[in-house]
Amino acid sequence: MNEKIPQANTGVIGGSSTFSLQFPEDLPSFKGRILERNLIFDTPFGESPPFILFTPDKEKEDNKIITCKMHGWRSGVRRGDASRQIFWVFKEAGVKNILAEGGVGAINHLLNPRDIVIPHDYMDFSLRKDVSLGSEYLLIMREALCPHLRKIFFKAAGNLSSRKVFDRGIYVNTEGRHFESPSEIDMFSQMKADVVGQSICPEVYLSREIGACYSGLYLVVNFAEGVVKDWEHEELKDIFYNEAPLIGEILLEALSFLFEDKSLKKECNCEDLRKKTLLT
Ligand SMILES: [Zn+2]
Repeated sequence: MNEKIPQANTGVIGGSSTFSLQFPEDLPSFKGRILERNLIFDTPFGESPPFILFTPDKEKEDNKIITCKMHGWRSGVRRGDASRQIFWVFKEAGVKNILAEGGVGAINHLLNPRDIVIPHDYMDFSLRKDVSLGSEYLLIMREALCPHLRKIFFKAAGNLSSRKVFDRGIYVNTEGRHFESPSEIDMFSQMKADVVGQSICPEVYLSREIGACYSGLYLVVNFAEGVVKDWEHEELKDIFYNEAPLIGEILLEALSFLFEDKSLKKECNCEDLRKKTLLT
């Protein structure tokens, strides 16, 4: 157990698309340095998942990234608690930018497996109520997915792949752990959702609560039930194991833009969308 949480300006939340590799050290283009690994902290919401602290560029060690795997989910820990543990650590570390990734099902008929979606909005159909760290802020969920980080993700994904990359879309979050029924997907489709997954909430609320910008990059891993055709487990498995390096490289490329590309000057209102509560 580690006592002191190190400072890091950026957090990366690994999901199912990079689960099968060690991010970032397994990636050929990683030119940085692992500063610390297996960092586990005591939080008010239980023991945190293990984190890695690294710098993406040995020459610029001020840029520190803290990262954990699979949204912190592990057996015996409720998903809401896992999220709160991660974001409590991010808050204490002073994290101001958060990049997340994960797998999603396609609801929009235009999408195919292996397409990449960077959503601009979300709908929360999870049943979780424990979605706060306890701070007393009024959280405005307009532009909840940071336009600046979305732009960086879009540029990074376009640079590294010939995939179809969508710079907007609506992500509907369900409770899980099971997938959805065809009737549920039909309802979400009528509500204009494009993709379905289980991780964007409560991360999106917790980011706003700690005053950090947040964006997610999501790989389409299957068709949602009742959309286009029945998906096959073999293909899902193939995507799970074989697409991890690409998503990992996109994350590294996005980090390099975040720190180096001055043309992507930060243009977002994220910090202003957290106000002092009036309920005092
Ligand atoms: Zn922002």
